Amino acid sequence: MATVVKPTGPLRQIGAPPMVPRIAPREDLNPFRIAQIQFDMAAEFLKLEPGLRQILRTPKRVLEVSIPTKMDNGQVKVHTGFRVQHNISRGPGKGGIRYHPNVTLDEVKALAAWMTWKTAVLNVPFGGAKGGVICDPKRMSKTELERMTRRYASEILPIIGPSMDIPAPDVYTDAQTMAWIMDTYAMTVGHSVHGVVTGKPVSIGGSEGRSEATARGLLFVVEEACKLKKIPLRGATVAIQGFGNAGATAARLFAEKKAKIIALSDTRGGVTNSRGIDPIKAIRYKERSGTVVGMPGASRMTNDDLLTMKCDILVPAALENVITLHNAEAVKARIVAEAANGPTTPHADEILARRGITVLPDILANAGGVTVSYFEWVQNMEGLMWDAEEVNARLQKSMVKAFHEMVETMRKHHVPPRAGAMILAVGRVAEATLVRGLFP
Ligand code: NAD
Repeated sequence: MATVVKPTGPLRQIGAPPMVPRIAPREDLNPFRIAQIQFDMAAEFLKLEPGLRQILRTPKRVLEVSIPTKMDNGQVKVHTGFRVQHNISRGPGKGGIRYHPNVTLDEVKALAAWMTWKTAVLNVPFGGAKGGVICDPKRMSKTELERMTRRYASEILPIIGPSMDIPAPDVYTDAQTMAWIMDTYAMTVGHSVHGVVTGKPVSIGGSEGRSEATARGLLFVVEEACKLKKIPLRGATVAIQGFGNAGATAARLFAEKKAKIIALSDTRGGVTNSRGIDPIKAIRYKERSGTVVGMPGASRMTNDDLLTMKCDILVPAALENVITLHNAEAVKARIVAEAANGPTTPHADEILARRGITVLPDILANAGGVTVSYFEWVQNMEGLMWDAEEVNARLQKSMVKAFHEMVETMRKHHVPPRAGAMILAVGRVAEATLVRGLFP
């Protein structure tokens, strides 16, 4: 039964209507409804027409596929997969593919919507899309993953392509996954098509700098935020939840800037050392043992304690809904830099804003990945090969520009960062949708 609560903090600040619906007395953690709440606030602020709101708050296209996969024991297991295209007004769909047992269609719809806003914040000529397969990749062999990936690619093939929708890696998918998708596509159409996926290995048209782009982009926006908040990055304490592509690379890059990594975690738990943890040693330890837990020179801690520990910069780099109504009052970081998509709920956002904690929102903070994906696609389409130096310089320019455009919007409208980024993004997508007009 829906209850109604009065908005406070950022909800009120960005001109939301006097009452906002909350689905249940408990916090609603459905990612797609959260994405819609975030959109509604920006739409209300921009005074978008009701029809346009309806277009932008729902996905353009949803594809659900069945993926029969021959397992190594000879039996067939049928996995379910999705590809969602949220909006393509500004260009082809763009977004990662996630393999996880808890993938749901609503999660993929939310991630696709966030991609629409993310590509718009960075002003790259893409729309938003996302894919997901319900599976347990940690319990599958490489050959099983390859067969499942190739069949999934074949099932979504009619709606992907370099001018239509371009997948990339996300949680528990990587450059190898992209190579299989590219090859499946190439075998079907009869020739190589580099631009069908990004985040692929450099040897088959991937871009230098793509694998670390999400974390590098995060570092660039944190550097800008630290300048504004007068926090020296050198010596700043950093806690990172999630030690995969985004989190482990962020740890390494922050350490290169002489920030102190005081906690790290993965699914099995966390480790902490107030004197600092060497990320390279943590990466090597995790490669050997599959987790950071137990690494020498650090004591154990839980993921929950990591999120509320005293630190300058907290980097959630795992999954959605980790900073919620239940722990937001206890967060002690000065900056929350969202490497993950959707780690902070709208209610937690309000609490953090009231407490003066700066949240660098996912649609800006982790947009380095899609920005270098765009560079990869441009190189593929033009037959170019940029070196890492050029890619990183272009990335820095894009991230810093987007950060300052967000800050300008915040100052103009007196809103917190996520609202600033959303107003910027929704405004751009709305303009593109309006100028194109409605077909037919
Ligand atoms: P990954 O699979 O490389 O790593 C995920 C990490 O999170 C793993 O270390 C895993 O152990 C950890 N993890 C999972 N569940 C956890 C939990 N409940 N508690 C603690 N740790 C947990 O994935 P990734 O590519 O690094 O993606 C991480 C986040 O960053 C996701 O939200 C993803 O959407 C987002 N992101 C990734 C990219 C990219 O380019 N890879 C780009 C933008 C955003």
